[in-house]
Amino acid sequence: METTDWKYAAAPESTDHIKLKNRYDLFINGEFVKPNSKKYFATINPATEEKLADVADANEKDVDLAVNAAKNAYDKVWKKMPAKERAKYIFRIARLMQERAREFSVIETMNGGKPIRESRDIDVPLAANHFFYYAGWADKLDYAFPNLSTGKAGKKPESLGVAGQIIPWNFPLLMAAWKIAPALATGNTVVLKPAETTPLTALKLAELIQESGLPDGVVNIITGFGKTGAALVNHPKVSKVAFTGSTDVGKLIQKSLAGTNKKITLELGGKAANIVFDDAPIDQAVEGIVNGIFFNQGHVCCAGSRLFVQENVADIVIAKLKQRLETLIVGNPLDKNTDIGAINSKEQLDKINSYIKIGIDEGAEIYQSKCSVPTKGFFCKPTLFLHTSQSHRIVQEEIFGPVLAIQTFRTIEEVIEKANNIPYGLSAGVWTDKGSKIFNLTTKLRAGVVWANTYNKFDPASPFGGYKESGFGREGGLHGLMPYLNL
Ligand code: NAP
Ligand code: MG
Repeated sequence: METTDWKYAAAPESTDHIKLKNRYDLFINGEFVKPNSKKYFATINPATEEKLADVADANEKDVDLAVNAAKNAYDKVWKKMPAKERAKYIFRIARLMQERAREFSVIETMNGGKPIRESRDIDVPLAANHFFYYAGWADKLDYAFPNLSTGKAGKKPESLGVAGQIIPWNFPLLMAAWKIAPALATGNTVVLKPAETTPLTALKLAELIQESGLPDGVVNIITGFGKTGAALVNHPKVSKVAFTGSTDVGKLIQKSLAGTNKKITLELGGKAANIVFDDAPIDQAVEGIVNGIFFNQGHVCCAGSRLFVQENVADIVIAKLKQRLETLIVGNPLDKNTDIGAINSKEQLDKINSYIKIGIDEGAEIYQSKCSVPTKGFFCKPTLFLHTSQSHRIVQEEIFGPVLAIQTFRTIEEVIEKANNIPYGLSAGVWTDKGSKIFNLTTKLRAGVVWANTYNKFDPASPFGGYKESGFGREGGLHGLMPYLNL
């Protein structure tokens, strides 16, 4: 199928009703305020390279104002508010997000490049569900932790204060929800910094929060670059740091916080093994492989970017995978038929292309879809590498794009060893007809999440997080509240 040219988009979502401002200020203490830096930077649509808006670049003074607003709101309002009252605000945010789902989806797709089908069916509903889920927890925490020695109702858990939260560009609204909802439910206040390339849905969320009537200063949203993030995590009035992003920046943050007693959670990179046994339902597994690596252009920390397929079914699985690749539509993310949208930035596209070159230089065999891709904007064809081995960089390092490294294996012991022999440990997938194999693998794979006969399934009630260089701490579920509490 080669009908992926931009001009022939079959069913593009209209952007007529989308109201973007030309210029976005910082959301501090319930108001949009001009940055002290007086600087703004352009945010673009990666599928067209057109500018969407200018966004404020917060400096240290701005960070200080935001943190002080959050601290003040914490001391004077939020900490004292009964949990059931706090819950009402969080429910209201959830409901407003559902009402605006279409607007949020279109903006997410315009700013981030992901297919509208995904932002509409996954990102935005899941973000709203995180607010619903954690709103429900807010008033149930007080008696949830019995005193360990007496078994009777214990002291109420304490909130920490101001949470400094930093998020990446791959799931901008969803990551904001993962961060903000548990912080509010536990009685903390927030300063959140979205990624520089995808600030717009977080700023729309700021407008929604303003409208929800949440007390001023409880949530502050400040845009900027890495230095804004660094100023936030190092601010002395921040008690808790929640970071999702690359392993390199996570390590920098960890070092800069050494000795400060700030609580910290890190959700970092990944390089998941997706393992297909010879007794797996093959067609279902092929769909799972495709979803595992090509969902969100492969900009997914838990992407199934390493495929391990059992030797005796490798030929059939790979043949079906190649066939399926040719049916994937790469192009206009606003087109409802698009499977693979735009790469989030020129920088990220360059990084992916450099890894494709590395793979070829390492001697792996490349197979790319024959589809055409738009000439404007940042696009990458779905790419397979066959005959890869454990020593290849394309097997060991996170590419964060639509590139799959394939290996074969003979025995279960061999695949467990290979799957684990990597610095990361965020997630994994297992495809088999045998429940016993699933139980065996889930205990032996060093990964925070293991999916069986499915992939990339998320739920607010389910904890998510990594082993090894994929970080520590869990988000989601009851466990996701713990990093925001003193018990
Ligand atoms: P990144 O470069 O580490 O950036 C993440 C965030 O940190 C951005 O807001 C970034 O601002 C900010 N930042 C950069 N330097 C900083 C510093 N020195 N101090 C404080 N903050 C700083 O990661 P990314 O490229 O946006 O995202 C991709 C990475 O995130 C991948 O490795 C992926 O695996 C990981 N990720 C992990 C999970 C998970 O749950 N484990 C989920 C999603 C993504 P700028 O945008 O201005 O650089
Ligand atoms: Mg970055």
